[in-house]
Amino acid sequence: MSENKPDGAPDAAGPNAPPETATTQSNFVRDIILDDLKTGKYGGRVHTRFPPEPNGYLHIGHAKSICLNFGLAAEFGGKTNLRFDDTNPEKEETEYVDSIMENVRWLGFQWEGKPLYASDYFQQLYDWAVQLIQEGKAYVCDLTGDEVRHYRGTLTEPGKESPYRNRSVGENLDLFERMHAGEFPDGSRTLRAKIDMAAKNLNLRDPIMYRILHAEHHRTGNQWCIYPMYDFAHGQSDSIEGITHSICTLEFEDHRPLYEWYVEALGIYHPQQIEFDRLNLTYTLLSKRKLLQLVQDGRVSGWDDPRMPTLAGIKRRGYTPEAIRAFCKSIGVSKTNGTIELGLLEHHVREDLNRRARRVMAVLHPLKVVIDNYPEGQVEEMEAINNPEDASAGTRQVPFSGVLYIEQDDFREDPPKQYFRLSPGREVRLRYAYFVTCTHAVKNESGEVVEIHCTYDPASKGGNSPDGRKVKSTIHWVSAQHAVEGEARIYETLFAKADPGKVEEGQDVLDNLNPNSLEVAACKLEPSLAGAAEGALYQFERLGYFCVDHDSAPGKPVFNRTVALRDTWARIEKREKGK
Ligand code: ATP
Ligand code: MG
Repeated sequence: MSENKPDGAPDAAGPNAPPETATTQSNFVRDIILDDLKTGKYGGRVHTRFPPEPNGYLHIGHAKSICLNFGLAAEFGGKTNLRFDDTNPEKEETEYVDSIMENVRWLGFQWEGKPLYASDYFQQLYDWAVQLIQEGKAYVCDLTGDEVRHYRGTLTEPGKESPYRNRSVGENLDLFERMHAGEFPDGSRTLRAKIDMAAKNLNLRDPIMYRILHAEHHRTGNQWCIYPMYDFAHGQSDSIEGITHSICTLEFEDHRPLYEWYVEALGIYHPQQIEFDRLNLTYTLLSKRKLLQLVQDGRVSGWDDPRMPTLAGIKRRGYTPEAIRAFCKSIGVSKTNGTIELGLLEHHVREDLNRRARRVMAVLHPLKVVIDNYPEGQVEEMEAINNPEDASAGTRQVPFSGVLYIEQDDFREDPPKQYFRLSPGREVRLRYAYFVTCTHAVKNESGEVVEIHCTYDPASKGGNSPDGRKVKSTIHWVSAQHAVEGEARIYETLFAKADPGKVEEGQDVLDNLNPNSLEVAACKLEPSLAGAAEGALYQFERLGYFCVDHDSAPGKPVFNRTVALRDTWARIEKREKGK
């Protein structure tokens, strides 16, 4: 592959958030910030953070959170921290940290200063835990996990106090220090906040602050064998960093009272947690845990399989950061969870690629066409427009000859009504070339059409006939002797069900996978695609947008179908079938 900047590749991300992310259309989070700016609540500061757990690759749902956090801060001249919420040593890896940084930058954002880690605060969190013990607000509990759950009660019944709840401060300090020193096995003790076992909100029923876990951490190694729980780490991390608006998804709404209890009990700076709706998309699973399962079970080729909703996957597929940002802006934020149509995301991808992608001709399912009256051995160069949306993209020459390939779909021996492409006796326009009329088809022994024959009208060069004759269809082609052999990977949704998370009894989400999510086609490409650079984006005329995959080899490009064009004929056919 050449090392040129890919055609139509997105611009490199600048240091500041791209201007179109400014949330000009207001939403309730922005309104809260506007209000705080008016009242001077944080002295005019806006400081947000994006806090991924490095236990998987980011997905399109995270993009919504990223655009919101970075977009709002950028709009108000504020800052956004990237903070890895790495309190869970068993599932976290450096590979994920690296991919997350790459994805955030790719989306067009740059965080404030260095990336931060909750694990940077382990010592401070430990000291704060000791402080709460000293103030009689935390205790070491010897109940097992099951017992803790059992004592917790339910939504309708209050919990029961742990028999260890009233240990003396001295005993708690001693036990916690020994937990820290590694004296006790995993799961044998926890440190719990002493709040209220009868609280309506279950999160306030003496939540666990620390657990014992003799596990190596991707950054702190074996320094710690006790780890803080998410709730004990998150708000305090926000506080340490001076975050003003801690924007998270709705499932944390019930955790907010605990977030506030900790910062208040510790008497430290108090950021404001605000919850918004999680992105759900039809035909798509947005859960790192389930996506990991697909990777581990080999159902996809990896985290960056172009069918995956990960940012790595959709980047490889050819989605652009601009399209994703436009999509995130269009869906807005609210206080109720819903599901967005995948079609809306695809719409934004088409809108963006329509502007930037160079048009080329490629035949995915080739059918040979012989033009019987075309002079033997002649080759003509036809001028083709690179991008009708962008005059500066200019034109190119495409070789034409007497033997071509067209799409199998563009010929029907027995054309149905409203089918205006080639069929015996029918004349159509070959894009940028000539009018041709089909004379007959050649079939193999099993009766399949293997080749068709046509005649051309030499006077129609360029695509118009001097006598003003009209044709109803224009089809694309590739000259057989000049064609570059390539591979096209044609994707459909990874899941066959609009709600893949919904499973029948005895089944799991893997049963909802779409068996036809990948078709590999040996395709014929116009010669200009021989040196197409990895990542380059094209519109294959009449077919869709395609992006050069990194599996390409010199002279053998591999293309991912990013998104199909809206195919009017397919829609007619579907409608007819539905009748
Ligand atoms: P997953 O369930 O996919 O593992 P998560 O919420 O556990 O996601 P985190 O790494 O904790 O993943 O997420 C980092 C940030 O991204 C959080 O603030 C979280 O609320 C947000 N986020 C995650 N998924 C979505 C989503 N689908 N829509 C919007 N924001 C999301
Ligand atoms: Mg999480």
